[in-house]
Amino acid sequence: MVCNPGSLVETPWPSAFEKEPAVARTTQLTDTFGRQFPYLRLSLTEACNFRCTYCLPNGYHAIKKDMFLSKPEIIRIVRGFVGLGVWKIRLTGGEPTIRTDFIEIAEEISAMEGLKKLAFTTNGYKLSERAESYFSAGLRHINVSIDSLEPDRFRRITGHDRLGEILDGIVECQRLGFETIKVNAVLLKDLNHDELDKYIDFVRSKNISVRFIELMRTGENKDYFDTHHLSGAYVSDFLMSKGWQVAPREVGAGPAIEFIHPSSVGSIGLIAPYSKDFCESCNRLRVSAKGNLHLCLFGELGYSLRSYLQNDGQIEELQEKILSLMKYKKETHYLHQGETGMTEHLASIGG
Ligand code: SAM
Ligand code: SF4
Repeated sequence: MVCNPGSLVETPWPSAFEKEPAVARTTQLTDTFGRQFPYLRLSLTEACNFRCTYCLPNGYHAIKKDMFLSKPEIIRIVRGFVGLGVWKIRLTGGEPTIRTDFIEIAEEISAMEGLKKLAFTTNGYKLSERAESYFSAGLRHINVSIDSLEPDRFRRITGHDRLGEILDGIVECQRLGFETIKVNAVLLKDLNHDELDKYIDFVRSKNISVRFIELMRTGENKDYFDTHHLSGAYVSDFLMSKGWQVAPREVGAGPAIEFIHPSSVGSIGLIAPYSKDFCESCNRLRVSAKGNLHLCLFGELGYSLRSYLQNDGQIEELQEKILSLMKYKKETHYLHQGETGMTEHLASIGG
């Protein structure tokens, strides 16, 4: 089992990090503040096999059977959004890969005309043995969550002693030729904030972007948030002090800030939802595993689309419904005012 980040496959300089491409086609999905939404994050399930301390500390407990979208409903949602100009979709969860039909869903979506980019976010469970099936299903863009590069801390944060297996899985993704490999790490005071140098070393010779995500307060994690939240400015100040620079933004790029360094092949990204102007570059919509359209990650219950997903003949009706809801998208998430909305944890709408 490989646990040493330094043993990962190296990518020769000057391989650049992947950036969100400029808006590739126009989308009808716009809001009253002039923002465009070419990107959909689609949650396939709320269930998860990990117990990340900031997300599902007691694990996932099913409430009702069969409540998540079926494969035909998922395909109809995707058809509807792609028809409105969405060109990037991320499959997320919960843990999307625990669905037994995950590969079939990915296969069908990746072959869909009009879609330029199909990505997924995973906790990396069994990644080393499953990477090939993901690749064969047409998946080329993977985000893997790794909240610590120390096996023991990783186990304490996620409830699983699987860091080695996940790092092996990333090596396998590199070997297979995934176009984008990103590593998500939630920034946690006293749990991983002292590992920034380790992550910098991790990407130094690899075409991988590490994304630090500022811990977000949800309905369920108030005490945890109060103890472990650290401002994203901690990461940016640290990186700048080590000679990292903010990479130029591309038109249509999302709210992540990307840092680059002349001696690093890989990059470091920062997603800091509490930072000023974060919402200005919002380019994404979300659909929950129960078929609710969420115009913002925080602050609203979602609008049910499920009744428009029951047969293939409803696509126009579905699209009209989606367009009619765009006017309700607010300018910002109001997190600064302590708003957490009804999002009990991010496993419910996919982060
Ligand atoms: N299970 C998959 C995973 O963990 O990568 C996908 C779903 S998870 C909800 C998506 C991302 O949200 C992960 O990178 C996770 O670390 C992040 N996340 C979950 N809860 C969060 C919180 N309260 N604040 C910031 N990021 C969070
Ligand atoms: Fe599961 Fe992802 Fe939440 Fe961790 S962050 S508990 S892996 S859904």
